[in-house]
Amino acid sequence: MAADYTNKPKSRFLRVKCNDCENEQIIFGSASRKVVCNVCGRTLSESTGGKSNITTHILEVLE
Ligand SMILES: [Zn+2]
Repeated sequence: MAADYTNKPKSRFLRVKCNDCENEQIIFGSASRKVVCNVCGRTLSESTGGKSNITTHILEVLE
C-alpha cells in the first residue's frame, strides 16, 4: 500500500509561473508528456525516467 504513495506529491495539479514570460498556468504534476508554456513555449514540465520534472517556478500545489 505504501508504494501507492510514492508519486502522490506529484500527482496533483500545480499552479506554476513561467520563468520566462511570467504566464501562470495550471499543469498536472504527474504529466507523462512534456508540458510547455501556452504563451512562449518554454518547457514547464518534462518526463524524466517516467517521473515528471517541473522546470519552472511552482506557485501552488492544488488539492
Ligand atoms: Zn512563458
